[in-house]
Amino acid sequence: MSMKPNRPDQLRMKAETQLVRASGKDGMPRPAEEFLHELQVYQVELEMQNEELRQAQVELEESRDRYVDLYDFAPVGYITLTRDAMISEVNLIGAALLGVERKKLLLRRFVHFVAEEDSDRWNRFFVSVLHHDERQNCELVLKRNDGSIFHAHLDCLHIKGGNGGRSARIAFTDISERKKAEEALRIAAIAFESQEGIMVTDANGVIKRVNNAFTRLTGYSAEEAVGRTPALLSSGRHDKDFYQCMWTTLNEQKYWQGEIWNKRKNGKIYADWLTITAVTAPNGNITHYVGTFSDITSNPESSAEIHRLAYYDLLTQLPNRRMLLDRLRQALAASSRSKHYGALLFLDLDNFKNLNDTRGHYIGDLLLVEITHRLNANVREGDTVARLGGDEFVLMLENLSEDIQEAAIQAGLVGEKVRDAVALPYRLKGLELWCTASIGVSLFYGHEASVDELLKYSDFAMYHAKKEGRNSMRFFDPEMQATLVERSALESDLRHALGRRQLRLYYQIQVDNERRAIGAEALLRWVHPERGLILPEQFIPLAEKTGLIVPIGLWVLQTACAQIRDWSGNPATSSLQLALNASALELRQPDFVEQVQQAISATGINPALLKIELTESLLVDNVSDTVAKMNALKALGISFSMDDFGTAYSSLAYLKQLPLDQLKIDQSFIRDLGDNSSNAALVQAIILMGRTFGLDVIAEGVEVEAQLEFLNLHGCHAYQGYLFSRPLPLEEFEAFIERV
Ligand code: C2E
Ligand code: MG
Ligand code: MG
Repeated sequence: MSMKPNRPDQLRMKAETQLVRASGKDGMPRPAEEFLHELQVYQVELEMQNEELRQAQVELEESRDRYVDLYDFAPVGYITLTRDAMISEVNLIGAALLGVERKKLLLRRFVHFVAEEDSDRWNRFFVSVLHHDERQNCELVLKRNDGSIFHAHLDCLHIKGGNGGRSARIAFTDISERKKAEEALRIAAIAFESQEGIMVTDANGVIKRVNNAFTRLTGYSAEEAVGRTPALLSSGRHDKDFYQCMWTTLNEQKYWQGEIWNKRKNGKIYADWLTITAVTAPNGNITHYVGTFSDITSNPESSAEIHRLAYYDLLTQLPNRRMLLDRLRQALAASSRSKHYGALLFLDLDNFKNLNDTRGHYIGDLLLVEITHRLNANVREGDTVARLGGDEFVLMLENLSEDIQEAAIQAGLVGEKVRDAVALPYRLKGLELWCTASIGVSLFYGHEASVDELLKYSDFAMYHAKKEGRNSMRFFDPEMQATLVERSALESDLRHALGRRQLRLYYQIQVDNERRAIGAEALLRWVHPERGLILPEQFIPLAEKTGLIVPIGLWVLQTACAQIRDWSGNPATSSLQLALNASALELRQPDFVEQVQQAISATGINPALLKIELTESLLVDNVSDTVAKMNALKALGISFSMDDFGTAYSSLAYLKQLPLDQLKIDQSFIRDLGDNSSNAALVQAIILMGRTFGLDVIAEGVEVEAQLEFLNLHGCHAYQGYLFSRPLPLEEFEAFIERV
């Protein structure tokens, strides 16, 4: 404790002497109480003042602490420099940024921490700071004690001391990260404007940015391209499979590279070497695609290769369709000059698909190559052998006779020779194989027919050769011509059939062993204003070929669902399961499952009342996609029947994969049940197979009691056919079902 008297004590002492003096001077002592009272009041006042003072002091200290914390730990380095640029004060962060202990920094010259290349700049800057009043800032490369460097942003203000001396206060931050990002951006910007065309799209393929080279290569400016999709450049030279393949690779591998034919704004088609890279977010989702491409049409080294890729078939090295069309155009021109006939032979192998499936694609490829040799060996030099794809070949013969009869004989001879050559046995990898071809021939003379027409004629003749029992040859003739004309008229009418409400669904009953109605099959009819009622076999193949089956199939689906809904109120129809036929092409639509789902929810029907009949043609490719879609639909409660079962080449392995509910024995087996014992055996086998796989079996085309009896005897449980009823229009069907 301090021995010094404190202020109240001093006051007391002073008061006491006053008391003594007062009492001693005039002999009239002031009353001690008065003094004491005054003293007490004074003392209380003083204590109050003391308390306030202490309080203020505490607050001051707290605020100083806060300030010191703020000063030391703000995410900014603070330094005070003397007018000689020596460090007189620094906060903790500043010391940390410079990599030196705080106390060791004091009185060191700041320039010591500036990278050499920036020291002159720093000196000039500091002089300027000292001579101006306003804040100034600059960016410098600073050097830590250990020699490492960083980019710093400095914010400086000069301060005048009371004695007129000058100093400066500096706030500085590490901006190395920002610098790095800026640099990366600068490099990216330069790289973006490279010689290669670059296009950036979002995840939906909408173009977001293109560079100058893009404009140079394609002719489209950034304004014209942004907001569009790369389809802008589509040349039409690649089919759907090409793009599908590209997208699959992109989505799986996030990368695709290859040659692509594009079209410039001016219509010119050229070859690009295209690389597409998918940009993904940290969660793995694709956010953008970056495509870079360079024109390789003009690159002499690759142009030969491009030409080969564009005009020749990779497997057989034969001219492809494009090359054939080119040559055919030239041949027509030549024929019109020379007045000689030419011929186009369309050749299709008879059982190639089957062979491919059973022996594998490798053997299939070997066979195609061998056939190529045989074809080449049987034509003259100057004739063209081309492969259109798959198992289709075309022979173009030029310079035949000037006389049409003679030209036909010449073409026929070549055709026969080729047919015989193809039919000779093959020895491939130790296997002995057989293969035949069907050939269609059409003659050409000048520009009488177009290139496309000629191909169509030969194709059509080939189709007739096939129908006549394969391994044969047919010439295109006027009768075929009439059919072709008829078919194209039908095709153009079919395009309007849906819009003009000319399609109807007929219904054919399906029954059980007791002949009780268990369901119906919806069958399409086309009520044509001039031609009358057209059966499906006359227009379904056409609809499939033209793709019209997709909208038509959707209509069938929606109509069938609406029918199930309308029947739900009537006890005679409410439990009928309605089957509809779906083509492979419909099932291949990416949104098929959604379409069915929508049709069901729009009508609110019980999905168990809907059955979809499929044919084995849908096993031709992409079985896993088919299985996935079927499973999705099955999960909704829909069932599946395999229509025309037994007619196509059916692989048991595939069948096992498919989530089927029913096999539908094809009517051709039922028709010949009586007089064909092999059919009887087949039907029995199918019924057995159904039982083994746990599938229902239904027989279609049951026309007579004997067939029903046979089927019944062998364990078939469901039937459809004229014996019970033909397919009927809605009103008749409803009347009929009330009766049975
Ligand atoms: P499918 O699905 O095998 O249909 C059975 C066909 O056999 C029907 O011919 C039916 O009228 C006929 N039929 C039924 N019972 C008998 C019988 O006892 N004897 C004989 N001789 N024939 C009988 P339809 O209606 O001409 O249909 C032919 C094919 O057209 C159908 O064969 C089916 O593959 C296709 N089709 C019909 N409607 C559609 C449809 O809406 N969409 C698709 N994609 N195809 C359809
Ligand atoms: Mg059917
Ligand atoms: Mg059928």
